[in-house]
Amino acid sequence: MDQKKLEQSTEQLGAFEISEAMLELAQHNEKNNSVLDAGRGNPNWINTKARLAFARLIEFGVAESRRTILQGDLAGYTILDNISTRFAKFLDNGDAVDNFLLESLEFVANKFNINRDEFVKEITDGVIGNNYPVPSRVLKHSEKILNAYLQSTLYNGVDLADKTHIFPTEGGSAAIVYIFNSLRVNHLLNPGDKIAVSTPIFTPYLQIPVLNEYEMVEVDLTSSAKYNWKIQPDELAKVSDPDIKALFLVNPSNPGSMALNEHSLKQIEQLIANNPDLIIITDDVYGTFVDNFQSVYSVVPKNTLLVYSYSKLFGATGWRVGMIAAHEDNVFDRLISQLPQHQRAELDARYALNVLAPAEMNFIDRIVADSRAVGLYHTAGLSTPQQLMEVLFSLNYLLEADNGDYYVEASKAIVAKRYAALFTNLGISTNISPYNSKYYALIDIYQLAEQRYDKGFRAFLVENFEQIDFLYKLSKKSGVVVMDGAGFGAAEGIIRVSEANLPDDAYSQVATAILDLLADYNYQYKHN
Ligand SMILES: *Cc1c(COP(=O)(O)O)cnc(C)c1O
Repeated sequence: MDQKKLEQSTEQLGAFEISEAMLELAQHNEKNNSVLDAGRGNPNWINTKARLAFARLIEFGVAESRRTILQGDLAGYTILDNISTRFAKFLDNGDAVDNFLLESLEFVANKFNINRDEFVKEITDGVIGNNYPVPSRVLKHSEKILNAYLQSTLYNGVDLADKTHIFPTEGGSAAIVYIFNSLRVNHLLNPGDKIAVSTPIFTPYLQIPVLNEYEMVEVDLTSSAKYNWKIQPDELAKVSDPDIKALFLVNPSNPGSMALNEHSLKQIEQLIANNPDLIIITDDVYGTFVDNFQSVYSVVPKNTLLVYSYSKLFGATGWRVGMIAAHEDNVFDRLISQLPQHQRAELDARYALNVLAPAEMNFIDRIVADSRAVGLYHTAGLSTPQQLMEVLFSLNYLLEADNGDYYVEASKAIVAKRYAALFTNLGISTNISPYNSKYYALIDIYQLAEQRYDKGFRAFLVENFEQIDFLYKLSKKSGVVVMDGAGFGAAEGIIRVSEANLPDDAYSQVATAILDLLADYNYQYKHN
């Protein structure tokens, strides 16, 4: 296959798959550089305290289990009576990690009025993992802590914690899959339905709705470099088409990295006022990377399913820890109750396996049941150790939030520093908007070509090369891998650089590789 054909067929792949192919090329790059993969959104930092606390809890759990049965490696079960007293005795308040656990116990007991023994039993059994998750949706006290975390990080002061139901999931990925499936199964989204998608967007939101299981019709709400990837009012206004059933958002966006501002949030509130049946799915994984972030969920909670994940902020992609949150009083339950009689009968029969009054089963509990094909509802739910990892990350945040939010600020500073290094070395101005999370940067190669050289050179690039040629040569020549923005629904010529995954000093090297490659193309332009 010639180069052009190969590139054309590569462009058919998804953005993440293209990145894999580029990585392969980068491994044998011409300059023998070590590979710099600036494509990965996986952070290269972790939260330590919550992890160490998890390990301490296992030690305590084992000590407790040995109190009931002890035969070599075999131990028994924990006992509720006075477990919190033994917990306090087990821990050393002079140790930072132990002290975090002791403070967490006080925090939870005082803030939520949770019985100390019950809480310590839930977290101890949780990390030990010797029981099925019960209730299947979420552990009882844990839900309160997860709710407090979401409220504190994403709602900008709006009080919804007591009215929000949470389903912890295997990362945001499972949350997304479960939501699509249950919306379809419950006839809330049907084949042929129009859905609005704010683009460019994390690829699954483009790829899943058009699969043959769903066959939905996508309407793109496009944002562009011209407005620094900020969604414009006329694009959001497309959602006022009454045929549009749902709106999918990543906020702050990936790859655009911009959070919705107050004006856009007001506009969404108005869209719901005009169309109270509109379904919104908002993925707020990057919310903590923007100061004073406000989720769409906090503005129109009854219409919104909120997806969150600990993957990015806490460096926890391997743990698979995310969640779905929904308001107790919501449009999903109402729309189900208004379905035609034959569809309600069909759904009643489906969930009659699980509950006595299936018609009253909340949509979020249906998601839990559907996640295990209904028949395995009794063993559904996220593994209890994963739920506990979520609880400990959340507590780490909640206890630190009072003394200056050190961890979150440090995470934001890391991506901001890398972002600045990249742009300074490229010689282009940064987007200084307070709504910019800086987790990713989108760079328009054609624009850069015009800025550094001239319009003619830009046209030469556009006319003579597949847009993926730039990524291809960047990998092959210098070992630098970036992602194809077009795969996310961005215009051609736009690449995504992640500020999450490389050492700080690599970002100037990425910029240099980009500029060197442009110089190569320019040489060709001048000599052809
Ligand atoms: C990284 C990312 C996620 C996180 O997915 P996990 O399965 O939790 O690792 C979710 N949504 C978006 C938009 C992301 O970029």
